[in-house]
Amino acid sequence: MRLSRYFLPILKENPKEAEIVSHRLMLRAGMIRQQSAGIYSWLPLGKRVLEKVNTIIREEQNRTGAMEVMMPTIQSAELWQESGRYDDYGKEMLRIEDRQKRPMLYGPTNEEMITDIFRGYVRSYKDLPINLYHIQWKFRDEIRPRFGTMRSREFLMKDAYSFDIDREAARHSYNKMFVAYLRTFARLGLKAIPMRAETGPIGGDLSHEFIILAKTGESEVFCHKDFLDFDIPDESVDFDDVSGLEAIVDKWTSLYAATSDMHEASVFESIPESQQVSARGIEVGHIFYFGTKYSEPMGATVTGPDGKEHAIHGGSYGIGPSRLVPAIIEAFHDDNGIIWPESVSPFDLCIINMKAGDGICDDYCQKLYDATQMAGLDPLYDDRDERAGVKFATADLVGVPTQVIVGPRSAANGEVEIKDRKTGERVTVTVEEAVNRLT
Ligand code: ATP
Ligand code: MG
Ligand code: MG
Ligand code: MG
Repeated sequence: MRLSRYFLPILKENPKEAEIVSHRLMLRAGMIRQQSAGIYSWLPLGKRVLEKVNTIIREEQNRTGAMEVMMPTIQSAELWQESGRYDDYGKEMLRIEDRQKRPMLYGPTNEEMITDIFRGYVRSYKDLPINLYHIQWKFRDEIRPRFGTMRSREFLMKDAYSFDIDREAARHSYNKMFVAYLRTFARLGLKAIPMRAETGPIGGDLSHEFIILAKTGESEVFCHKDFLDFDIPDESVDFDDVSGLEAIVDKWTSLYAATSDMHEASVFESIPESQQVSARGIEVGHIFYFGTKYSEPMGATVTGPDGKEHAIHGGSYGIGPSRLVPAIIEAFHDDNGIIWPESVSPFDLCIINMKAGDGICDDYCQKLYDATQMAGLDPLYDDRDERAGVKFATADLVGVPTQVIVGPRSAANGEVEIKDRKTGERVTVTVEEAVNRLT
């Protein structure tokens, strides 16, 4: 992408309304625009990052055997009346009426709708387990939307729903998501710790929140320090291996980790003080096992091996991609801007032409641009007619991990500079060597 043709509305001033660094940087880097309180548009740069996050989530969901679907954002109130949650959900639910005066709502979550889909088709235990997920906008009329897309009213959620014949099988489905979440957050460059959590309006008795430690987090959390160095299961993990997965989950739940709702001070204080972590955290994912909470009232049953009807055992599993983007920025930035982990960077490299219009500079940049594209990379080429200082600042702000700087003096010697955004380290190499290293 040539920056001269790209829609990247960078802000020079720090936006006053932004209280935390990720919100500030997302606005300054032209990633998002607020449309009304807690409702955002994602501009080209932001959309690229959001899609990278979605892709990683999707790959890890698919690895477990979960299947992607797409449910609507607007739901009929009837389903929620069936489950009994229509009245319980309260003011966070945006209730709408259509022209027929039928009560509708903008979905805050999809347990009811997915249960309706399931009961419409599945009749036998032989068709289980099933796990269906989608990545879709949700609306919750948050009392205090803030921190940009970290707590917005309209936000993106990956929500998966599992269906099993009994508690034991449902436990395996839960474990699959638990392990998939460990892998997902690690691939996003994050250390997320599963913590015992309250189930809230979703219901059920088994639940973990995945929390990233961060000063600006809204949750108060307590955990054992060793969690920060635990190994993440690699991609060879076998999701059909019941005891193998259980062993991973057992390990990841063997030490103390709880959010303030579930905190037991006396247990926490029995950990050696040097190992106690008491911090703030961001909830980036949340998984629930809720048994027959929805299947019973909504009649989602299958015939079991015994020939009788059984209400299925369900779980639901949420991740917030539009919260993860700012959470990643909270973890990776410096005074000059964002520093993306490679896995979610909007571009693979940034080519900076210090003197657009200069023959050799233009020629080298074009060469780098073509070669990296040919190699399947996605370069951002700053070909604008701007001062070098402005270009350096832009590149640092948008945070692409590798910058290639082409200036007239070194270009005259056949050389360019490669700069690492994170460390600031620069090396001077020939343009051919640069192509070699980058591709
Ligand atoms: P919170 O405690 O932050 O209000 P929640 O517990 O209400 O979140 P869940 O119902 O568990 O949220 O939803 C699953 C995931 O959706 C959360 O873990 C989070 O990543 C994301 N999420 C929830 N609410 C929001 C929001 N208002 N803005 C952005 N992401 C959200
Ligand atoms: Mg909430
Ligand atoms: Mg919560
Ligand atoms: Mg939650």
